[in-house]
Amino acid sequence: MLTAGVLAVLAVVVLGGAGHSGGRSEPAAGSTGGSAASTAGREGTRSRTAPSSAAQIAAVRRLAALGLPLYCAGRRGDMVALTFDDGPGPYTNLAIRKLEKHRARATFFLVGRNLGLVRGAVRRERALGAVGDHTWTHPLLTQLAPVAAESEIVRTQVALAQDSGAPVVLFRPPYGGRSQAIDQVARRHGMLEVLWTVDSADSLGADYAGIARNVISGLHGGSIILMHENRGQTIRALLQILPEIERRHLRAVSLPELLAKDPPSVAQLHAGPAGCGARVSAVRGGG
Ligand SMILES: [Zn+2]
Repeated sequence: MLTAGVLAVLAVVVLGGAGHSGGRSEPAAGSTGGSAASTAGREGTRSRTAPSSAAQIAAVRRLAALGLPLYCAGRRGDMVALTFDDGPGPYTNLAIRKLEKHRARATFFLVGRNLGLVRGAVRRERALGAVGDHTWTHPLLTQLAPVAAESEIVRTQVALAQDSGAPVVLFRPPYGGRSQAIDQVARRHGMLEVLWTVDSADSLGADYAGIARNVISGLHGGSIILMHENRGQTIRALLQILPEIERRHLRAVSLPELLAKDPPSVAQLHAGPAGCGARVSAVRGGG
């Protein structure tokens, strides 16, 4: 959750001139996924090797076409997906260093208006795993008019494709605030709507010990873990979480890799959180 206080701090950073290039023209709302793809092609020459393979992207797109929210993967393997919402921000580089140290991959759901806050962050996050769309201003989408909600989503998808140099096929609604209409917006724009299996509760005020406890209790193959990258307590909790993942011989992978290697069944997707077993956290409040 991005609080008003955090937004105020971020606004000060921007107004202070720190790092915001301003060079990226803002795409018009209503642009299509097709333009995102062509943007990726144009920028592909200066991006590093895509961390998500074509087969992984295709696996995500196959699931996205179903138009259903995802709460977990197949839960048959030894892979988990760590996800970090609301960035980029002041802790982005620290989070990346900690993840790299443990050879852990992750997925970052980014807020469109934050994209320019930390120079190079989007490409580094993509190189570490994958990036996804978390709307432009982090509203509760279900309270917006349909056209406004779609604009929040698509504007971010287009900008993120431009900044990351790759098509954007993952989307997470702020606060987990979804509806059938929101599900369909994601589907129409070729994105899989990703919720989570386990809420670390970092956005609900948990301290590092509580965050680590919540995450570790939900570390099972196929789990999708919700965390936030703009929180010092979360970054500190990684000091416990990452070694524990290693100790249990699990692997932290990107969502595209998880979904390509351990996809959920269609029946599981239709079942929603119930398709993920008993350990699914409440889906409202986080995100
Ligand atoms: Zn969020």
